[in-house]
Amino acid sequence: MIAGIELGGTKTVVATGTAVGEVREEWRFPTTTPAETIGRAIEWLRERGEPQAIGIAAFGPLGVVPGRPSYGKLLATPKPGWAGFSIIDSLAAAFPQARLTLETDVNAAALAEARLGAAQGLDDVAYITIGTGIGAGILSGGRLVHGALHPESGHFKVPRAPGDDFAGVCPFHADCLEGLASGPSIAARWGKPAAELPADHPAWETEAWYLAHCVLALLGIVSPSRVIIGGGVSQADGFHEKTERILGEIAAGYFSPIEAKPYVVPPMLGQQAGIKGALLLAAG
Ligand code: ADP
Ligand code: ZN
Repeated sequence: MIAGIELGGTKTVVATGTAVGEVREEWRFPTTTPAETIGRAIEWLRERGEPQAIGIAAFGPLGVVPGRPSYGKLLATPKPGWAGFSIIDSLAAAFPQARLTLETDVNAAALAEARLGAAQGLDDVAYITIGTGIGAGILSGGRLVHGALHPESGHFKVPRAPGDDFAGVCPFHADCLEGLASGPSIAARWGKPAAELPADHPAWETEAWYLAHCVLALLGIVSPSRVIIGGGVSQADGFHEKTERILGEIAAGYFSPIEAKPYVVPPMLGQQAGIKGALLLAAG
């Protein structure tokens, strides 16, 4: 039995499935306290048998590098009660025989989209999500990138869009990418939730500007063959096309990977990317 757990800021998914990422059975429930949330996932799995392997895709910041003191733990998350909680310890206590593999939610989604979705067959892929926050998962040379902790592409500085003097909403950096382009930042800047802004609203030029600069930075550092942009905000009509157009302008004839059109694409697996990624991780 292979199992996957996707631990999200608002909802959790637990599933059984196959090594190629097929979900056999799944259950979605709200994320509450750590003990209750992991407890419910453990109980649901126990009713189904003894998993040999469990892949876990979780929100962060999260210790994903085996051997480090932070491994398995949620770190400085503002989510009440979760900072310092060890996902790995609680699962290992419940399933001592199971092989546990832990990844960030965005890395799991990048893996699933690369194996089964919008970047099928590619080994160099970035998956950006724009929702309440901004994050990116990176598959480089077929391996998920960790670094010393894991990349935090939502928090780097981006050049200001022409005429934009909005202060930004990141509690740490104010006007980092997440501070200027996350869902809450769009709502604060324009006085309306992103979902309610029409496709021809100037918000979308600004938003695409910031995401194009994020993609350019990723091109400069890990050179993805394709970039997937998902998350609630990316559902705005024409958003990927706008971002790709601005990317073309700021790339200025350099960065040849973007010649493979389309380069900036929506996800194909939708709501299933995280849990499928968790099953693929369990398979190893
Ligand atoms: P979370 O990050 O909490 O998981 P989502 O990825 O669902 O959340 O993103 C939520 C954000 O997406 C909100 O800011 C919402 O206004 C925005 N959003 C949802 N649907 C759309 C849409 N169709 N067009 C633009 N923005 C949207
Ligand atoms: Zn920030």
